[in-house]
Amino acid sequence: MSSDPIPLAVPVLQGKEWTYIKECLDTNWVSAIGPFVEKFERTVAERLKAGQAVATVNGTAALHTALIVTGIRPNDEVLVSTLTFIAPANAIRYCGAWPVFIDAESTYWQMDPERVKDFLDKQCQVKNGGLANKKTGRRVRAILPVHILGHPVDMDPLLEMARRYDLTIIEDATECLGAKYKGRNVGTLGDLGCFSFNGNKIITTGGGGMIVTQNPAWADRARYLTTQAKDDPVEYIHQEIGYNYRLTNLQAAIGCAQMEELDSFIDSKRRIASTYAQGLEGLPGVQFMREASEAFSIYWLYTILIRKESGRGSRDLLKSLGEMGIQSRPLWKPLHRSPAHQGSQVVGGEVADRLSEEALSLPSSSNLSAEDQERVIQSVCSFLS
Ligand SMILES: *Cc1c(COP(=O)(O)O)cnc(C)c1O
Repeated sequence: MSSDPIPLAVPVLQGKEWTYIKECLDTNWVSAIGPFVEKFERTVAERLKAGQAVATVNGTAALHTALIVTGIRPNDEVLVSTLTFIAPANAIRYCGAWPVFIDAESTYWQMDPERVKDFLDKQCQVKNGGLANKKTGRRVRAILPVHILGHPVDMDPLLEMARRYDLTIIEDATECLGAKYKGRNVGTLGDLGCFSFNGNKIITTGGGGMIVTQNPAWADRARYLTTQAKDDPVEYIHQEIGYNYRLTNLQAAIGCAQMEELDSFIDSKRRIASTYAQGLEGLPGVQFMREASEAFSIYWLYTILIRKESGRGSRDLLKSLGEMGIQSRPLWKPLHRSPAHQGSQVVGGEVADRLSEEALSLPSSSNLSAEDQERVIQSVCSFLS
């Protein structure tokens, strides 16, 4: 067996990327206006049956823009998953609003709808026509579920609560392009969905993002805000503060090529997941990533839990794999533990704390070879036995 390094997740750029990039260079369309931007938006919108799509410089900008478009204002509160990457919580703060961190459920590790319900029913009250957090007095306006690791959040209970309390739902679907919930595409279940095309995501544009929505007025407004809120194409007139958040034609060209490969990437990720599940089956103290019966997961990063009862730790496994040239990664420190978000409220948090201690993501690149994956499996088995 070889001992070459095995990375956690690398992009696979073996389709028409070169051809489309060359087209940009040959035609001089390299910046934020150009045919590939529109083509990329159309392709994603059609694939997801999403109505409208607006391309952005990255996923964080997509989230920020989506929050502004739905009317999130300073001192509003937004319910967001605590077990996730920091970007959605930061985007909430960019608006001057505050995150309320919601714990994960222990089966699929996603935002726990029970905790959301508990918070809304018991810790909030209807006041002046809006929903107020009893503790902070602030207005609760939106839910921002983050579909982590390729698997959807249980959305139906969230949608029901959003209807009951008149809240907006902005989905962070950055890790979930192509995933489904009850046959519907993740990112199209709420009011707006956000995607990322960072280098480690299932498809990449180097850096990039996308907002999708069925609401044409919101899409128009997102397009306006992400291009400096320019009101007149000739005279430089701006009624409000905008952002330079549009994706370039060069990046969109890569995106168009990557979209042609999406289905094959999803097949690879799902095959990798089932090979891990078979290869590690029966190992004591290991819990696998599961797929809910109503879910179609894209298994973005295949993740296992090294349960405390095993007497071994996920970080020991990380170190041991590292010594063999195999890259692995813990999940994020829950955001309610983040010094950057100190002082924000958390609902629960114990489950996320435990998951973040026990979880480790294993190499999951779409082009992971059978031989390399076998090496990872053997290394995990020998560490745990
Ligand atoms: C990657 C990611 C983002 C942000 O995307 P960028 O394109 O890196 O800005 C947001 N949320 C989650 C959960 C992510 O994994």
